[in-house]
Amino acid sequence: MAPDILNSHRLAPNILALDFDGVVCDGLREYWQTAWRAYARCWHVDEAAEPKNLGDRFRYLRPVIETGWEMPVLVAALVQGLSDDEILADWPALVKRLAAEAGKEPKELVAQVDGERDRQIRTNLDNWLALHSFYPGVLDLITRVQQSSTDFFIVSTKEGRFIRQLLAQGGVDVAPEQVIGKEIKQPKYQTLRDLKAKAGGNASLWFVEDRLPALQLVKDQADLQEVQLFLVDWGYNIAKDRQAAVADDRVELLSLEQFSAWQFP
Ligand SMILES: [Mg+2]
Repeated sequence: MAPDILNSHRLAPNILALDFDGVVCDGLREYWQTAWRAYARCWHVDEAAEPKNLGDRFRYLRPVIETGWEMPVLVAALVQGLSDDEILADWPALVKRLAAEAGKEPKELVAQVDGERDRQIRTNLDNWLALHSFYPGVLDLITRVQQSSTDFFIVSTKEGRFIRQLLAQGGVDVAPEQVIGKEIKQPKYQTLRDLKAKAGGNASLWFVEDRLPALQLVKDQADLQEVQLFLVDWGYNIAKDRQAAVADDRVELLSLEQFSAWQFP
C-alpha cells in the first residue's frame, strides 16, 4: 500500500467525491428494514411475518447490490432459498432473471423502496434516522473539506433528498448541488466526468467508494485515467474485492484511520 495515502506529500485534490452508503454512513439496519417492507408489498407477503435470520444473511450479501430496486429482489432470492454462493456468483444476471420471473419491473420495485423511505421519514422520522450511523471521523472530514479550497460532492445511487436529511441530522449542511444521487439517472463515472469538466480540464479528482465494480467502471473510461480511486476497507465490500484493490495499481485500499486523517488546505 502506498505510504503517502495520509497525503503527507500528496497535494489535496481540487475535487473530493465520496460515495455515501458504506463510506460516510452505515445504514445497514435501515437498509434491511426498507428492503423487507418493500419486498412484502411487492410480493404481497405479510410484513409482520419476517423470517428469522434473513436479516443477517441480507446484511452479509449487501455488497452485491448496486442500486435500490435490487433490494427487494435480494430478499426474494433469500426467501426462495438460494444459497449465498449462488447469489454471489453472478448477481447482476440473477437479479434481472428473478425480477423478470416474478413479473416485476425495476421501476415498480424502486418506487416501493423510495415510497417506504418517504413513509418512514413522514411518519417515523426519529426512528428512521436512528437506524443510521456515521462512521467515526467522517463528518469531521466533510466539515474540513467544506472549509477548504477543495470542492466537495457526494456521488451516490441513493436519492439525494435522503442523503441531505441524514447529513443535516449529523450537523453537516451541504448544498443541494453537492449531493448527486439517483435522481440524476446516470452512472457514477458520468457524474465524475461532469464534475471534472465543470471544474476545468486539469482539475484533480479523488473518488472514494466501497463498491469495487463502481471503481472498475471509472477505470474503464479512457478520459478518466487521472482520477484517483480509493476503495474503503470499512464499507459494504467483500474480502475478494479488497484483495483485488490491493493488487490493482489504479485503486488504493483505504482504512478509516487513514481517511479520517486526510487534511485539506
Ligand atoms: Mg456504497
